[in-house]
Amino acid sequence: MPAPSALCPDCREPVLWTITEAGRRHAVDPTPTEDGNTAAYRDGVGTLRSRRPSEELPLLPYERLYMPHVATCSVRSGAEPPDATRCLGVIRLDERRGRRDRTGR
Ligand SMILES: [Zn+2]
Repeated sequence: MPAPSALCPDCREPVLWTITEAGRRHAVDPTPTEDGNTAAYRDGVGTLRSRRPSEELPLLPYERLYMPHVATCSVRSGAEPPDATRCLGVIRLDERRGRRDRTGR
């Protein structure tokens, strides 16, 4: 059973550290989820590479969708740095749920 690679420095929950296309470290929740907005795969040396899927480049067969940890972190939720949130395009869970309820899905 693989050990979690790291813990969140804020809430101590296990997270996976990915490297974005811009070369930044980006923590995601360790369990892939269809609700996530971060696509990630392991490259040849075992590094998790992440990116945002787009219409031009949708999720590829070897990629999984993950939820950015800042969206679920119990310590940082509601207090995440505004700049980082905007940059990563994090979708707040509350907004998603609200939207889903209104559309009846
Ligand atoms: Zn956390």
